Amino acid sequence: MRLDGKIYADYQATTPIDPRVVETMAQLFSSEIGNPHSSEHFFGWKTAEIVRTSVTTIAKSIGSDSDEIVITSGATESNNLALFGLAKRREAKRRKFLFSAIEHKSILAIARELTRQFDIECVSIPVSSEGIVDVDFIEDKLDDTVLMISVGAVNNEIGIIQPIKEIGTLTKRHGVYFHCDAAQAPCAINIDVVNDNIDLLSLSAHKIYGPQGVGALFVARSVTKAIEPLNYGGGQQGGLRSGTVPVALCAGFEKAVQINSQALQAGSHNSLWQISEAFLKHLRTLGVNFEVNGSLNKALRHPGNCNVRLIGVDSHDVIASLQPRIAISSGSACTSGTPEPSHVLMSIGLSHEEAQSSIRVSFGRFSTLTDAEEVAGGIKMVIENLSA
Ligand code: PMP
Repeated sequence: MRLDGKIYADYQATTPIDPRVVETMAQLFSSEIGNPHSSEHFFGWKTAEIVRTSVTTIAKSIGSDSDEIVITSGATESNNLALFGLAKRREAKRRKFLFSAIEHKSILAIARELTRQFDIECVSIPVSSEGIVDVDFIEDKLDDTVLMISVGAVNNEIGIIQPIKEIGTLTKRHGVYFHCDAAQAPCAINIDVVNDNIDLLSLSAHKIYGPQGVGALFVARSVTKAIEPLNYGGGQQGGLRSGTVPVALCAGFEKAVQINSQALQAGSHNSLWQISEAFLKHLRTLGVNFEVNGSLNKALRHPGNCNVRLIGVDSHDVIASLQPRIAISSGSACTSGTPEPSHVLMSIGLSHEEAQSSIRVSFGRFSTLTDAEEVAGGIKMVIENLSA
């Protein structure tokens, strides 16, 4: 994708909003003025209906019912509501929280606060050098002292798909709540919360070509009573998240979900693979010395993710030198800008130096084979200039 001649290849930080989503939202912003919680008049009834329809579509896309969806501001809020919500109502004996070592920073930050505020013992689940969580470790640790476990479905830095169903089966057996951060999942895999035994699942619209500022938390009906809300007010959304639900953002989220499922059916995976593979092939042809981070097994990767370490080069120098022509990142958007190396790359066994030399290039719906070629060419040129 190009904007003003500049190439965007950072789809895992955020996906550009789809023009069809913008159209849906623009129309609603100007035509619908009611608060969806105003139950006494027509304007409110109409917007409430729009929200209901949107929530139904979002729910269906993950195999849940609409009364199990809480609209939030995004995956960070969903993660907070799920984990703080459970921690606040926990039974005294369940005092442990397990999460994978490669979780998004929001989960790591929540874990620290859970220990500080609720004296919860946090256990980090190791991952293999391929980037896959150690299911045996989980099985070994699960008992009735564990409150909850959080494992992301698709990693945001290295794009590795995790064995969610296996983890769900184990947690169910031990009566442990299973939270899954699925922010990066919908463009890569199918999620079915019932089949995968997931109790709580976080989604974000801006990772699927929808608007920034809206997301959802799936809360299985059986879990609702185990969650303490984080904010209090008008008691909207079953009291789990007070505040006015944003109508146009919900409809934009719905549209994004619909377009995503059409795209998957139409084979978006294959075209994304072609672009990612073309990028790696161009790097190789140009003689760039690199290794792919994480598993090389296609069945285990997000098709648009290329996380590579550029041997002997500092990734920050490369990324900065590509500005403003090409946008890629050194890890997750939230990690970028901080000087320490990515915790995800360190967890899969990379040294400090190897992690610092890694870049994440992520392609998506509006990427082209020409983008792939030019990003590879740009990287090659920058490396040459830096070493000159
Ligand atoms: N979890 C994952 C796996 C993510 O990739 C992101 C976005 N970087 C988030 C959570 C945070 O999502 P949001 O921006 O919607 O709060």
